[in-house]
Amino acid sequence: QAKDAGRGVHRLFERDREDHLQRIDLLQREFLQAMARDELVLHYQPKVDMSTGEIWGVEVLVRWLRQGELRMPAGFIEAVEQRAPLIRQLGRHMLEAAASQIDHWLGTGRRWYVSVNIGAQHLLDPAFIEDVDEVLARHPAAAAWLQIEVTEQAALRDLESTRRALAACRARGLAVALDDYGTGHASLTYLQELPANQIKLDQRFVGRLLVEPRALAIIAGTLTSARLLDLDVVAEGVESVEQGELLLQLGCQVAQGYLISHPLPADALTAWADAWLPPPQWTGGEKSVWFTHEDLP
Ligand code: C2E
Ligand code: MG
Ligand code: MG
Ligand code: MG
Repeated sequence: QAKDAGRGVHRLFERDREDHLQRIDLLQREFLQAMARDELVLHYQPKVDMSTGEIWGVEVLVRWLRQGELRMPAGFIEAVEQRAPLIRQLGRHMLEAAASQIDHWLGTGRRWYVSVNIGAQHLLDPAFIEDVDEVLARHPAAAAWLQIEVTEQAALRDLESTRRALAACRARGLAVALDDYGTGHASLTYLQELPANQIKLDQRFVGRLLVEPRALAIIAGTLTSARLLDLDVVAEGVESVEQGELLLQLGCQVAQGYLISHPLPADALTAWADAWLPPPQWTGGEKSVWFTHEDLP
């Protein structure tokens, strides 16, 4: 009888699994339609140099307007990344959008890097660099201001192909950031092997910086390696002035996070940038009095 019950449970799991696969399949088909119907909405989030308050660049992040509701990538990007043609089409769409946005911003005197997230499957696709070239042929001036952000997922699958794809990007003048840095397994190997210009400290570490000695240690160590390897470091997920202040003291100049701005539509981001004033603690206008080294965890 116990065995029968076991089989019942097994059948149930099997059905769950089928339901799950069907849901993913449906999501993938709907996403393909959404791209065709131009239902993707792009938001831009600034990366600022805390020491000057200047805008270094912006990251473009995809949202999906689905039945009147704005869906965040957490709800669909994994399903999209499982299908090579889908993630490739999304990547091409985002690269094209970023390059035209760069042209537009350059035309109004805004020299901002625009960063696009590239999924591992797309980066490893031999056609990836053709996609880049196609976009650059239409927007030659954008090459110097376009950045791609990649996670170590691609490198985990195929380090040599990842290295080659990134080198091809660099050869065309693009900048390369290693996203979500510190969350993976062999991060230091990748730092040494991959031709990146920038590391993005994952928000998990940044969020714990002020309360967890381990997070502080990882960030301080990463900053030391980055300095030696001549890489810029961006802190993701900066939500308080104090986090930014400590990051600056540790040698991390560029920050991105809700404290500075949430991701916004391009026009709203431009208006935000015109009005933006950095916290005085960052730019040295006013020294913080509360922070002492004894306060460090
Ligand atoms: P990511 O590239 O690491 O992007 C950072 C995510 O953190 C964004 O979420 C951003 O809105 C969020 N974030 C920014 N500042 C803060 C903060 O201060 N606090 C907190 N808690 N979160 C903050 P989003 O837009 O939901 O994107 C999630 C992930 O989806 C991205 O992580 C990226 O991996 C992926 N993604 C987004 N757009 C694209 C795309 O066009 N293509 C691909 N392949 N992936 C994308
Ligand atoms: Mg990113
Ligand atoms: Mg990230
Ligand atoms: Mg992240």
